[in-house]
Amino acid sequence: MKPIPDHAVNRLRIWRKSISTRPFLARGGSVPRCEACQLRHAWCACEWRPELKAEAGFCLLMYDSEPMKPSNTGRLIADVLPDTTWAFLWKRTEPHPDLLALLADPVWQPYVVFPTCEKNPARVTERVALAPGKKPLFILLDGTWPEARKMFNMSPYLDGFPVLSVRPDALSTYGMRVANCDEHLCTAEVAACVLEVAGELAAGQALQLWFNLFSSRYMAGRVSRAPGEDESPLLQALDEINKGVAEPAVETGETSVATLV
Ligand SMILES: [Zn+2]
Repeated sequence: MKPIPDHAVNRLRIWRKSISTRPFLARGGSVPRCEACQLRHAWCACEWRPELKAEAGFCLLMYDSEPMKPSNTGRLIADVLPDTTWAFLWKRTEPHPDLLALLADPVWQPYVVFPTCEKNPARVTERVALAPGKKPLFILLDGTWPEARKMFNMSPYLDGFPVLSVRPDALSTYGMRVANCDEHLCTAEVAACVLEVAGELAAGQALQLWFNLFSSRYMAGRVSRAPGEDESPLLQALDEINKGVAEPAVETGETSVATLV
């Protein structure tokens, strides 16, 4: 059995499970899985899990049982960037004191990642513009689309931050998307786009590849289809990252470079 990576999302999942009063019955919740990657044992992908460091931080606000869902992809962000990913259960009126401390930490410049802000369109930006000495902290609302919208609209402690809207079709990571995803990007894919916008190409690419492998094996496991040969380019790319030989293969355009102000 693979060791479970000690990171914020796994710690939150273990804690959330411990306070559950009844067994978790979400789809796929009853199937035996690798505790580390949450894939069925025969499809375990732990061997290819990339782990990197980045300047950018992520703050995941997770809706209720989201950390316990095997299909959750916020966890993949913490897999790749364990040192700079935080995770909290979302609370409307009583946010965790550690969340408020993180948002107030002068090291970080927080952005709420969300497509629009109807109440105040002036908050919306498509660029990451950092003040001198600051690092970007990307707040991701991790849940279904209606849950994410609820978290966005009902979290007064986020209202003061700019809203970063990513246009994935303008980014190179978009070409690596897996087929048959619905119109909304998964949380890990949004994070991969955000990393690219922030100029963190290696981390963005590693996360997108890790998501692609997770997603392909999750789907294969559901129908008991063996991992196919079609995933070998993915495994090779992840192997290269893990051996430290990969260079990000993407070029940044004008719109995808972090700028200093
Ligand atoms: Zn595994």
